Amino acid sequence: MLESARVLVVDDDESMAKGLAELVSREGHEVRHVLSAEAAVETLATEDVDLVLSDMRMSGMDGMGLLEHIKKVRPLTEVVIITGYSTVPSAVEALRKGAFNYLAKPFQLDEVRNVVRKALDRRAQSIVTARKAEPYQKLSRKLNPGLAPRGKPRPVVVGNVVVGGDRPIVIAGPCAVETRDQTLRTARAVKAAGGDMLRGGVYKPRTTPYDFQGLGPAGYDILREARAETGLPIVTELMDPRRVEEMMDVADVFQIGTRNMQNYILLTEAGKSGKPVLLKRGMSATLKEWLCAAEYIAYEGNLDIILCERGIRTFSHGEYSRNSLDLNVIEPAKKLSILPVIVDPSHGTGKAELVPNASYAAIGHGANGLLIEVIAEERDRCTVQCDAAQAITAQELAQIVKRIHSLPAEDLQS
Ligand code: PEP
Ligand code: MN
Repeated sequence: MLESARVLVVDDDESMAKGLAELVSREGHEVRHVLSAEAAVETLATEDVDLVLSDMRMSGMDGMGLLEHIKKVRPLTEVVIITGYSTVPSAVEALRKGAFNYLAKPFQLDEVRNVVRKALDRRAQSIVTARKAEPYQKLSRKLNPGLAPRGKPRPVVVGNVVVGGDRPIVIAGPCAVETRDQTLRTARAVKAAGGDMLRGGVYKPRTTPYDFQGLGPAGYDILREARAETGLPIVTELMDPRRVEEMMDVADVFQIGTRNMQNYILLTEAGKSGKPVLLKRGMSATLKEWLCAAEYIAYEGNLDIILCERGIRTFSHGEYSRNSLDLNVIEPAKKLSILPVIVDPSHGTGKAELVPNASYAAIGHGANGLLIEVIAEERDRCTVQCDAAQAITAQELAQIVKRIHSLPAEDLQS
């Protein structure tokens, strides 16, 4: 049982509310009382409560309405209904709707003690069960209902940009920072196209050691200059935990790439840095593995995590697209966790011509934003060393930004 539980008594009869609160507090619990269901709703919006003892008949919202609300916003909070004889049938109906039990007036002290203890036992048990089913304990929506508004993610704020707010955001840039000229031209193009953040890697996880590995520290100043000129926050990949410190004032968001999704030392250090982290889904990671990887960051006290679906490996790998963009994961990821989810249609498809429709589809599936690779001008396609085939032009980016921002708010899932 929960030793010192948070209990809320709701009754529009003040003496009843006070009396019951007094009784329950004798059991060593932290008890408060409010005089209406509306006031209880307000309390529950910001505070977690283990048990609610609610009168059935109240003016305004009644006990049944409150119960239904609680089961939606705090499914693990237990509810015991207080009822008079006339409302016993609805109290029985409340059991069907998830109430733990009811107390029919007049009740004895022992009865109250008993029902409170059993309700708290069930609460403790369901927390244990939920933690097993959802081991991403700090990021689970069910286990942390107060951390995110209902049906919406907990927003991640980067400068003036809100990821997971009312409008989808667009992060764009070159795959890699290759030269100062290429990066600055691309940064200007992203800004002009209406992008919200600039993305470019100075460390690139490449499949072979013979491919361009990124400029390393030589790229830091280029990113700083691009930020100073455009005002766009910088997203850049962190591959090595030893680089966190020197990259703190280069990156506004640390990207952790698909290959490093389960690099637990890196995740831990990114968590400790306190900087927002864009965590790409491992190319063969299940949703649970992805959320558990994010939990390593959250475990260090950093909840500013943006999930990024970037395509997974399937049997069709390479046949007509680089990866299979798994848009089906967006909704469950948002339902299970408190995190915003964005989509990378560039790595998800590997082909520039597939990127616009993949972007619209992602937004249609409820993505909170996009991460897109771009080139400033068509001529750059022949000179960039990294991911040229999947980069769209700045004009195409501008069209995508315009189109996703012109969608009516009701067409955008939260
Ligand atoms: C990238 O964003 O350029 C990249 C390497 O992505 P991923 O980790 O998804 O392959
Ligand atoms: Mn790339």
